[in-house]
Order: sequence, then C-alpha cells, then structure tokens
Amino acid sequence: MKSEIIVIGDELLIGQVLDTNSKWMATELNKQGWEVSRITTISDGADDIKEAIASAFSRVDVVLMTGGLGPTSDDVTKPVLCAYFGGKMIFDQSVYEQNLRYFAGRGLQMNESTRRQAEVPDVCTVIPNPVGTAPVMWFEHGSKVLVAMPGVPNEMRVAMKGEVLQRLRTHYGDHDAILHRTLMVFRNTESGLSERLTAFEAQLPSCIKLAYLPMPGVVRLRLTARGNDEAMLSNILDEMVEKLRVLLGGDIFCEEDTTLGGALGKILLDRKLTVATAESCTGGNIAHEITLIPGSSAYFNGSVVAYSNDVKHRVLGVPQDALDAHGAVSQPVVEAMAVGACRMAGTTCAIATSGIAGPDGGTPDKPVGTVWIAVCCGDKVVSECAHFVGTRAFIIERATQRAIMMLVDLLLSRD
Ligand code: ATP
Repeated sequence: MKSEIIVIGDELLIGQVLDTNSKWMATELNKQGWEVSRITTISDGADDIKEAIASAFSRVDVVLMTGGLGPTSDDVTKPVLCAYFGGKMIFDQSVYEQNLRYFAGRGLQMNESTRRQAEVPDVCTVIPNPVGTAPVMWFEHGSKVLVAMPGVPNEMRVAMKGEVLQRLRTHYGDHDAILHRTLMVFRNTESGLSERLTAFEAQLPSCIKLAYLPMPGVVRLRLTARGNDEAMLSNILDEMVEKLRVLLGGDIFCEEDTTLGGALGKILLDRKLTVATAESCTGGNIAHEITLIPGSSAYFNGSVVAYSNDVKHRVLGVPQDALDAHGAVSQPVVEAMAVGACRMAGTTCAIATSGIAGPDGGTPDKPVGTVWIAVCCGDKVVSECAHFVGTRAFIIERATQRAIMMLVDLLLSRD
C-alpha cells in the first residue's frame, strides 16, 4: 500500500526546526509494509494545506499529517480539514475532560484557548492524545483516509504506536510486505563497491532492490524486498545476504542497520571486550555515540574528557616530557592517552583523540582540523593523524566517526 506524509509548519520551511516526524513515521510505516511514496513539507497557510491534501489524494489513498493542531492563531489545520471534508466544528466533551485531567495532573489551569482544543470537526473520529491536548483526528472519505496528528514529535509517536497504525491495519487488511536487510561495509568507496557488485546486481530478482548509502569511510548496503509472500521474500533476502558475505568477506563489519557506535558495540559484545575513551577535541562525543546504544554498560566502562594538559598528565598518565616535546596534538600524546584510558577504566580497548577543532588555535604545522586519533586493544596501539575541513561541529563529528571506525578496523583485523 502506498501512503504520503504531509508535515506542516513555517518553522520547518525556514530551517528553524528539523523535520524528524516524517523520518520516524516513514520508518514505522515501512515496518508495517506501507510504502511512503512522497513526503511534502508545507507552510501553516490554509491554501497550501488544502492544495497539498488534494494533490496527495490524487495519487494515494492514505495521507498522514502532522502539525498545526494547536490552540494558537497560526494553527489552522483543524478548520481547514473540517471545511475540506465538509463538516462543522463541534465541542467534544470527552476531549475536553481528557484535557482537564491533563492540566490538573500538571497543576495547571485550563484557559480559553486550550479549552478550544476540544473543538473538533464532526466528520472525523477522534483518537485520544494521552500525552498532549491536541486531539488526533481520523477522516474517511470513500476509500481515502487522512490522519491528522500533532506536530510535537512525542505526541505524534504515541498516537501512531498507540492507535493509528493498528487502525490502518484493520482498515486496509493484509497487503504487500516490505522487508529490508542492511549490511555496513568499510574499506571500500561507494563507486569501488558498485564495481565489485556489478554481477551481483545483475542477477538480483526483480522483487529486490539494492541501495548504496555512503557516509564517511562506510557504505550501508540496503536490500529491499517487496511482495505478498513475506516468508519467501525473507528467504530470498537471506540468500542475497549470503552471496554478499562471500563477495565482500571481512569488509562487512555489521549486519544491522545501526549507528557506528551500535556496530562497535556489537563487535565488543561478541568478543567480550570493554572500551573506554580519552577525549580532548571530541569533548566526550565518542562516549556519547557509544552510550546512545541501550545496553552499552556491558562494554563501556567510562571516559575522561581530558581537555587540559594537566588532566592528560595527572589522570591519564601522559608523560610530561611527551607533552613538552611534541605538544598535546601529537602521536606520542594521543597514544599515551589511549593506553592511560585502558588503565584508568580497566578496559581491554580504548579510543583517544587530541586535535584542533577550531575555529581558532591552528598553526601552520597543525592547522584547524588536525586530529590525532589512537585506538588500542591489549598491547596493540594504532594511531593516525587525520585532517578534516569544516566547522567545529563537523570536525568533532568526523573525528568521532573516524575514531570509532579505527577501533572497529583494529578489532576485525585481529580476527
Ligand atoms: P500542539 O497543539 O501541541 O502545539 P501542533 O500540532 O500545533 O501541536 P505545532 O505547533 O505545529 O504542533 O508544532 C509544535 C512543535 O512540534 C514545534 O515547536 C516543533 O518544535 C515541533 N514540530 C512540529 N513539526 C515537526 C516535525 N515535522 N518534526 C519535528 N518537530 C516538529
């Protein structure tokens, strides 16, 4: 089944807020076998909303919308939908009582504009919103369904998971499945990989599509299968993954669609290893990436944000001579930081960084973007000097990715 998503909000169009709603909704719809064929971002204007709905309904039967349901004057979605589906606004006592409870639970008084949240079109089914005050509205018109949800990401997610997805399943019954398998590959460029996989791609069954999703130093290969026999699709995907294993061997470092921190976590867990980080220029970002993964306490022991030379020396045991002779951004220092992190946290592995994230602090010898990275496992230490060009945030991000991949590489090279 095909669907479209419309996200509403001037704040999305001026770049003030990043549209995370459609990403999350598309992921969840896909898991249910719903193909999202278009995502449209529009302003809070009534004409734009009407035009976007008519346009989406000319292509698909199911439209999911978020935003513009609030009580303020810029939130016009509700009256526009009411007019579009030919209804009139009525006061819904159950929404009002739910909102009274919502306010009372927070020790707040309901004012007139929030009281208006209980006004809904009489041509929709109201789905309760347990975590906010804007009602979720389900409209049906012939074979078409439109679901309007609040823009607040958590409210939208609770509604989708709580009732919307279930209602869509009940309303449309069984339909084609969409299955994905993702392999994370390193040591290859995107173009090099596509050359290696030319013959593999040529023999793919028509129900399977292969996509290349590159990021620095890594390419995610996604196989997508569509069809009505889920078990058969799953078997074909297993066969294709096996062929890729044979073709790419150790260049596949993870067989899950996860982050680099997630991939590293799986490798550490499989090998019963532990890790610590000693971070100067990345300021704890590597530890953050690792600990974003639930269950990371099984392999992550701790981190030192060693920004000053004093902390590098006193906490991590970096020799003062090395700091004096080579400076903080140097191979001997970053390697000593990694070894010191293992000792400090009692781990088998460590990652360390020391660099110049900018925008100031660069020198002709060590310009902004110079980052020394060291990783170690047991008595094996590997380091490299990377040069990144970009903003401070970009340099921190790239150093974080590179550092994690260096440890992944070291661990897999040991096998
Ligand atoms: P409420 O009644 O709770 O205000 P609403 O439907 O009126 O809900 P909006 O006013 O459009 O929602 O947006 C509320 C907040 O939700 C915005 O400030 C914005 O931060 C966030 N938001 C809206 N749309 C999106 C989106 N597509 N992705 C991520 N965040 C969003």
